[in-house]
Amino acid sequence: MHDFAYRKGELHCEETPVSELVKKHGSPLYVYSQSTLEGHFRKLDEALSPLDHLICYAMKANSNLAVMRTLANIGSGFDIVSGGELKRVIAAGGDPKKCTFAGVGKTEEEIAFALRKGIYCFNVESEPELQRIDRVAGRLRKKAPIAVRVNPNVDAGTHAKITTGTYENKFGIPFEEIEGVYQRASKLKNIRLRGVQMHIGSQLTSVTPFEKAVTKAVSLVATLKERHALEFFSIGGGLGIIYNPALASGTAAWWKSPEAKDILTPQSYADRLIPLLKPLAMKIVLEPGRFIAGNAGILVTRVEYVKKTTQKNFVIVDAAMNDLIRPAFYDSFHEIVPLKKKSGKLIESDVVGPICESGDTFCKNRPMPTVKEGDHLAMLSAGAYGSVMSGTYNSRAMAAEVLVQGKRSAVVRARQKVEDIWATETLPKWIS
Ligand SMILES: *Cc1c(COP(=O)(O)O)cnc(C)c1O
Repeated sequence: MHDFAYRKGELHCEETPVSELVKKHGSPLYVYSQSTLEGHFRKLDEALSPLDHLICYAMKANSNLAVMRTLANIGSGFDIVSGGELKRVIAAGGDPKKCTFAGVGKTEEEIAFALRKGIYCFNVESEPELQRIDRVAGRLRKKAPIAVRVNPNVDAGTHAKITTGTYENKFGIPFEEIEGVYQRASKLKNIRLRGVQMHIGSQLTSVTPFEKAVTKAVSLVATLKERHALEFFSIGGGLGIIYNPALASGTAAWWKSPEAKDILTPQSYADRLIPLLKPLAMKIVLEPGRFIAGNAGILVTRVEYVKKTTQKNFVIVDAAMNDLIRPAFYDSFHEIVPLKKKSGKLIESDVVGPICESGDTFCKNRPMPTVKEGDHLAMLSAGAYGSVMSGTYNSRAMAAEVLVQGKRSAVVRARQKVEDIWATETLPKWIS
């Protein structure tokens, strides 16, 4: 669910016409809905209310300060993956005490910084990391709170680049080795064993893989809790969203299929996991990123050319893979709609950016309304892993970002000045 919809034939974000935002701020333009962000957080929070729980928004999905402040204001903690992200939490007014620190490559500086700021927990991905955290904590005369990331070896059945919970992946420690790791960790002087963590992948649209992983983990978690007085179990993030409503709305028969019953919603996720988790009597931590931000943002782009060849209808737009890399990187689907609703016949089109790479393609052979130069299109569900993954390839300045609340809107990141792209570059003396 989200707050982008046509009203009188005009795409609106909440009560604001998107075309007005583009007129004011230009394109390409990211537009975020504050009520969608809050709504997703609250739906999940409420569904899990029978459990003592903490939602740590995985800020790598969208770390704009305004997005983060919005979530911090309604009680969110943050799942971070770098020292830079912890600095961002602080800049956004978030609470380091509600931060979990994930990632396989934490540096000494990052560990020291996080210890000084008093984060909730380090999610440890290897024994060398454990030893490093112990060493740094000793130097700072602190006790480092940690959870070890269990790799449950459950296939999340998602795209290869975002599956993390099998032994093929670099993440976590194999299930069978965990008890030994906790045993050894309990002997380290500067380590405080605080929890257990797990994260099996991203964009999971069915509940079954979560259920399998949690079912597999609970008895191990219960044993570890007993032995080491652990207080929390983090079941990670990875809750998927619907990118292509055509797939989900299917036919009446489809809705009765087992596949449809397994569709992940906050309620189905909670209904099936709470009975497994409640008996643990632990705090349950979640790290959703995409679920909160994904459908809360769109990327608006201008049609520059329509190029017809004998084979194809290319719609060439002013956004490119440097602005939104997901289609090129993960073959992902984004719904693409005009800002002004069009009737008439659909024509199979490729929507492409201006970058000199064939991968700079947003969709292929997709039936779309006829558009012309100067029209604007919105790529939906671009709120997560959109702007944060953007770059300046082809010396393209990064897009502006706008947050909408009802009829109000504000620029929350100014369009980058093109000169700023090379502002830190210098010429060596010997080149005149
Ligand atoms: C990326 C990541 C998340 C968030 O994933 P989403 O699919 O955006 O929910 C949560 N936990 C860890 C450890 C991650 O790496």
